[in-house]
Amino acid sequence: MSIKFSDLPIIPEIQSALKSLDYLTPTPIQAESIPPLLEGRDLLGCAQTGTGKTAAFAIPLLQKIQQLGKYATPYQPVGLIVAPTRELVVQIAENMSAIGKHIKFRQTTIFGGVGQRPQVTALAKGVHVVVATPGRLLDLIDQEYCSLAKLQYFVLDEADRMLDMGFMPDVQKIVRLLPRNRQSVFLSATMPAPIEKLAAALLHNHVTVMVTPPSRTADRVKQTVMFVDRGDKRKLLDQLLSESSRTRVLVFMRTKHGADRLYKSLVDAGVSAEGIHGGRSQNARQRVLNSFRDGEIRVLIATDVASRGIDIDEISHVINYDVPVEAEAYVHRIGRTARAGASGESITLCDGDELKYLREIEKTIGMAIPIDRDHPFHSVDAADDELNQYSNLSKSKRPQSQRPRSAKRGRGSGSTGSNAGTPSRKKSSEPTKDRTDDGAVTQRRRSISGKVRKIKPRPPSHGNKSFGKRSRPKSKKR
Ligand code: AMP
Repeated sequence: MSIKFSDLPIIPEIQSALKSLDYLTPTPIQAESIPPLLEGRDLLGCAQTGTGKTAAFAIPLLQKIQQLGKYATPYQPVGLIVAPTRELVVQIAENMSAIGKHIKFRQTTIFGGVGQRPQVTALAKGVHVVVATPGRLLDLIDQEYCSLAKLQYFVLDEADRMLDMGFMPDVQKIVRLLPRNRQSVFLSATMPAPIEKLAAALLHNHVTVMVTPPSRTADRVKQTVMFVDRGDKRKLLDQLLSESSRTRVLVFMRTKHGADRLYKSLVDAGVSAEGIHGGRSQNARQRVLNSFRDGEIRVLIATDVASRGIDIDEISHVINYDVPVEAEAYVHRIGRTARAGASGESITLCDGDELKYLREIEKTIGMAIPIDRDHPFHSVDAADDELNQYSNLSKSKRPQSQRPRSAKRGRGSGSTGSNAGTPSRKKSSEPTKDRTDDGAVTQRRRSISGKVRKIKPRPPSHGNKSFGKRSRPKSKKR
């Protein structure tokens, strides 16, 4: 028999808020984490967004605040939640407000890209909880607007993403400022070595809860890949969007300029679309997210950096306009649909140059993504390359039925026909430049055969420059 919230030692004020949120049964991470957290234990949670991890740490924190029964002290929060993105910070704070609506507690969000004055004012009035991105939090600590001396409950959310985004030095500084006597919660979807090391330094006598490793999200999402020449991607997207069953569609692009161009051209074509990326102001991003959540916008174009905190139920389709360079980004992208146990659909548009990324993704998720050839832009070239280059994924994992019909095409016979019918492929040795959402420049050089080779590829999530980076103002004492 499954456990209910009412079976857990949660105070009535929170129980009634959970009821009004329609949270009846705890998710696995909630069922396993809430009891030890309520006992004051440290926790290592291996879980990703969509598992209900926010409530898993928010419920015990709110219960603690209620039981402490103290007014908030100016500049000295008792709870601190650190998350990698502004969107995630806002989302966590919203969840905290909803779960804690019958509890007298005050909180503030802290993130960069906006003026610090309202954040400083909130800290001066006193808050129980700060939900923050690392950079701006350290700024305010440096300026002595925030002190961690009275902290009792610390949460580090999406630790692996912090590492990806280059926030590790900031996180380590924050961890060094924590008082010895505190409860800590450490959450990460994956546990690469530096993350394990950080967890070991932070946690004491902790319990470990592992729920659905990242690749498992893939199980709930109906995934397909469509082979298409780059020059046909836009036409294929138009066709996909023309189906009215695709009610709330999230389209991913690697670069912010690409995302901008695409959303503008969709709007010009009469599609209800908006764009969200690291280059837009916080207010603009929040406004767009709200409209998408409320169903005012049908199609949202996002980059990986901007998408991280998107928590919107009922996203019917995720379309990967570009195949993500990092396999993990793929798992996060498709995880935007199939939220909270629902099912969803993802469609990846793959051109011949992106096959290597597709193969990495399939190795990571441990399955071959079914190929959908039932569209007018099926690229014989890409499918052909796919068949030829697919030798490193075991044959047993790729069903016969997925083999491209076009495999008969003559290759290796000296035929120059392999590029015929692909006008999108330029033949030039000039390097071209792509700029990812985090500002990293990727150079590609076209070889004589027309194939694009990457020179020093820089995955989008590394060396993030535009996002969360501190521009430390001169120290301004209170
Ligand atoms: P999270 O992983 O915290 O981002 O939560 C993912 C989604 O699940 C959010 O939309 C939550 O509101 C929802 N959720 C969290 N816990 C529960 C629950 N016990 N029952 C139903 N929905 C939940």
